Order: sequence, then C-alpha cells, then structure tokens
Amino acid sequence: MPTSSFTSASSAVPCPVVESLDAILPEEPLLMMGAGPVPIPAAVAKANAIVINHLGGTMVKVIGQVKSMARYVFQTNSKWVLGVAGPGSAAMEMAISNLAWEGTRVLSIKNGFFSERMAEMGRRVGARVSTLDVADRAVASLEEIAEAIRRERPEIVTVVQGETSNTVWNYHLKEIAELAKAAGALVIVDAVCTLSTMPLEMDAWGIDAVITGGQKGLSSIPGVSLIAFSDAAWERVKRRTAPNAHWCLDASLAENFWHNAGYHYTAPVSGVLALHEALRLVCAETLEKRFARHLKCSLALQDGVAAMGLRLYTPEACRLNSVVGIEVPDGFSPADVCSHISRMHQVEISGSFGLPIVRVGQMGEQCREHNLFRTVHALGRTMVDLGVKVDLPAGVAALERGLSGGR
Ligand SMILES: *Cc1c(COP(=O)(O)O)cnc(C)c1O
Repeated sequence: MPTSSFTSASSAVPCPVVESLDAILPEEPLLMMGAGPVPIPAAVAKANAIVINHLGGTMVKVIGQVKSMARYVFQTNSKWVLGVAGPGSAAMEMAISNLAWEGTRVLSIKNGFFSERMAEMGRRVGARVSTLDVADRAVASLEEIAEAIRRERPEIVTVVQGETSNTVWNYHLKEIAELAKAAGALVIVDAVCTLSTMPLEMDAWGIDAVITGGQKGLSSIPGVSLIAFSDAAWERVKRRTAPNAHWCLDASLAENFWHNAGYHYTAPVSGVLALHEALRLVCAETLEKRFARHLKCSLALQDGVAAMGLRLYTPEACRLNSVVGIEVPDGFSPADVCSHISRMHQVEISGSFGLPIVRVGQMGEQCREHNLFRTVHALGRTMVDLGVKVDLPAGVAALERGLSGGR
C-alpha cells in the first residue's frame, strides 16, 4: 500500500533543525547597559505579552492615553502626536518624508552618525540637503549655525539633541530653534536617545517635530516609536501636493488610526501597550524627578569611571549624560572590552561605529543604583583582566559618593 501522499511528500525546502530559545539565550539575562535597547520594567514586559484587537473601544482608549501621556513627555499641547510601527529611524523618516520632498531646502546640523542619517533620509526624498559638519566631540556655535541658515535659507533644519554615537549633547537646542524660526524654517529634533532623560520643551522652545524611539530613554521595547508635529508642521504635511512615497509613514494616512479610530495598517498592539506602560511610569515618576535621577546617576557613573583611571571621551561642556563614552586604553579595541565584559560579567555595553570608545547608557532603567554598581565593577574587572592598570576600589568609592550626594 502506498503511504499517503501527505506523509511521503518531501518538501523542496527541507524543514530546518533549530534550537529553542531556551537553548540559545543565556541562562541569566545579560544586563543591558549599552546604547540601547535598555532593560524594561516588569509592567512594560507584561503589557508586551498581550495581544488585543487593533481597532475598537479598548484600543481607542489606550491610544488616547498614549497620546496624552506623550504630550506631557514631549511638553506639547499639539494635537498631532502619532505612533509609528518601526524603530526610531522610522520615526525620523516619518518626520523628514512628510515635511520634505523634491527640492526642499534642508539644513542638517551634523554631529555624527545619527544626525548624518537624518541628512541621508532627506537626500533620499529628493530634498536639497546641506550639512553643517561639526567636529567630533564638539557642538556648532550659534554664530556658525546662524551663518549656515543665512547661507542655505533652509525650509527645514534638523538637529539631534543627544548624538548617541560620539556622546555629544547639543545643549543649544532652544537657541537653534529660535534662529531657525526667525528665518522661517521648521525644526526637526531627533530625541530618540534623550527623551525623558533630560529637559526638552517642544512648545516653549518652538520645535516643529520631535521623534523618539521606544528602547532608549523611555525604557520600552524597540520597534514602536513616537512622533509629534507642531501645528505649523502639520499644516505643511497637509499642504503638500505630491503624496509621501512612504505609504506606511504617510502622516495623513496614520492620522486615520491615531486620531480617527480607523484603519491604516495593523498597529503593533503589544508594542503600543508596552509603550503605554512605559509612558505611564514616566508620568508616575514625573519628568522633574526622572531628569534628576538621570543626572545624578550619570554624573556618579562618570565620576566612577574617571576615578578608576579611565578617560571620558567628550569634554564636559558638551558631554551627553544619557550615554557615556569611555576611551578604550591603548592596545585594545572596543570589541575586546565589550566581549570580555559580556562573557565574564554578563553586562552588555556598546562600541561605537569605529570610534575608539565603549559606551555605557544612562537611559531609563539603566539609571538604577544596583545596575551602576554592577556595571562599574564589571568594567573595572574587565580592565584588570585585560591587564590595564585601573584603581577599581577608587572607582566604586567615587560612584558611591556621587550617588549619595557627596560629589
Ligand atoms: C538609537 C538612535 C537612533 C536610531 O534608532 P533605531 O531605533 O535604532 O532606529 C536615532 N537617533 C538617535 C539619536 C539614536 O540614539
């Protein structure tokens, strides 16, 4: 008797033999202390395990709360808050592709890897992008920015609040927005790294679009992001004649889901629920307390690293607190340090796109005392293991002084 064709059929592409996640993932989760993704609170993890209908009453209520909490975190009264199914980069692309098109004059203040990405996205929608190239480990002066605005007459200025790649903080954001506004340009701010870790006041500073991801300052999951447009920016979105070539990122289509309880694409419901919980925890903590926690933890970390004998990459004047860049000692590569600390101490930190540094994040749940002690200890031990001379006890003592207010 022939066996059934069902069991005897051999697939053209054979079924692969794979390992279960239990076999792949480490027994003890690694402590995520790099430049993102960051650890998520239990409430965020729990929400991320739930699937609900993407349309209907429950989702409408969740969306409404996400928008109102996001307005608090962005410090804006603008109606035009939307979520994005995608990484921080998708939110960047949503900002640029809705506000710029063929021939739009865009000035990108380029501090490094991520601010250059924004310029590249502008070029890809056909905009005439000029960049103000800023030296590594520095910010552009307001004179240089004013001069670039006079020269290029941009319709849009893009700037990053925290350039995560080289750990530079653009502390002039408010003044940059003023200069751009005075010249009639809209301002897009990339706050993927920094949102909810340090002040950003969208309305008071006159910013027209702010974007953020989930996996950094907000301590949510990667892949679900937020964007806010000012009224002026929204008017430009509505005024355009050629439709946005990015259908998924078209703000006018996204409005249907985020403001009219309708369908655009199936929203990543679990991720939106996770974001809801992340935002709710920010609201429960309050921005003021959250900023203070981030500042205290980051400065204590910086003290600890310096006291140990390692050098911080960025000068204090423009040093980003949300991600701390640490020079790798001569003779070692960032990968040497990152792989050792991960393997031997179960702590993940990051390299940085070819720069001779490792980066330790201070975003969201990373700014907890127990995480800091474990990280500083693991980093110091890694140096000792690699044969670099450091004073680990001095580093731990400085961390403790910083955290207990004795700085
Ligand atoms: C991480 C980061 C991005 C990119 O976010 P993805 O979620 O990786 O796309 C953009 N800008 C800044 C400043 C970032 O730190």
